[in-house]
Amino acid sequence: EREGPVQGRETRLRVVLRVRPLTCTETRRGDRQVVRSLGDGAVHVSAARHDATFGFSAVFDAGASQEAVFEGSGMRQLVELAIDGFSCTVFAFGQTGSGKTYTLMGPLAQSETQPAAPALLGLMQRSFTCLLEQSRSRGSALALSASYLEIYNEQVRDLLSPGPPCALPLRWSKTRGFYVENQLSVEFESLEAIVSLLLEGSQRRRTSAHALNRHSSRSHALLTIHIHSRAASACPSKQGTLCFVDLAGSERVKETGSSGELSVEANSINRSLLALGHCISLLAKPRGKRTHIPYRDSKLTRLLARSLGGSGITLMVACISPSSRCLSETLSTLHYASRAR
Ligand code: ADP
Ligand code: MG
Repeated sequence: EREGPVQGRETRLRVVLRVRPLTCTETRRGDRQVVRSLGDGAVHVSAARHDATFGFSAVFDAGASQEAVFEGSGMRQLVELAIDGFSCTVFAFGQTGSGKTYTLMGPLAQSETQPAAPALLGLMQRSFTCLLEQSRSRGSALALSASYLEIYNEQVRDLLSPGPPCALPLRWSKTRGFYVENQLSVEFESLEAIVSLLLEGSQRRRTSAHALNRHSSRSHALLTIHIHSRAASACPSKQGTLCFVDLAGSERVKETGSSGELSVEANSINRSLLALGHCISLLAKPRGKRTHIPYRDSKLTRLLARSLGGSGITLMVACISPSSRCLSETLSTLHYASRAR
């Protein structure tokens, strides 16, 4: 394992919290706000029988702009490390409706008809812009490509591949580690090109043939940017990655009996989120104290093994609703996220 520029418990894994505003529906039905930012990365939850404070690297409250989240989460540093050949990963974690997709992509991915205002663009588009700017200003030739995968019920699917969806095998080899067989990797050079790949894949995720309405909230989506900087006279060639993960909703899925489908789904989501939490909390320990990291416990963690185990930074954006009605899921997200830290 390569030693990175970033060492120690505080910096390898960064966990930030984003609290979305109350939606119109929540306001109309009179939901109370039970989450309050105290400043300095602290957040307070108070409701009937609960009164607790949690700490994060940063807290973005309902008033925080998309730009503030990009700048304040240190995303720029992750992009720079990836260009320097390290592996960086960003997760959005939280219950369905808590703002994961909004944080990563903005409202853009929700409507193809009207492009989102630039101010609403998410972490992904902002990172792409930063990456392409850096690439130009360095004058070095960076070869960029993207892959976009979905994991649903422990099956891996390529979101960039046209045609009917089919499950791809996840394999392991000594030289490559875990990899997805026949996975597409598409080269790009412009912001337009990568944004259109993102939209195309996200569209495919929402309208997949076997999809139920809630399909996209029950699957994990992983967009990976591969950054290859060709060798120049002074420096050797480098291969970095920047991976964005829109995780399945973390809410406990109710078992409604008969079909069996829901329990398969619930099991695979719970298993992968548990496995991820476990790997991340082990990775957060100082290097010398780490034990074996159980990547093999789920497809999600296998796919992320290289990215998480590399020497870059992992950023977890925990997303919550401020509403009293979401209290128990909010507390469970806060516990998960602060455990990872
Ligand atoms: P998730 O991906 O976690 O299921 P979404 O990102 O789809 O949640 O967000 C749910 C709804 O809340 C969407 O309508 C979205 O536009 C809105 N929303 C989420 N976060 C914000 C925010 N920070 N500001 C304004 N609207 C938001
Ligand atoms: Mg979503």
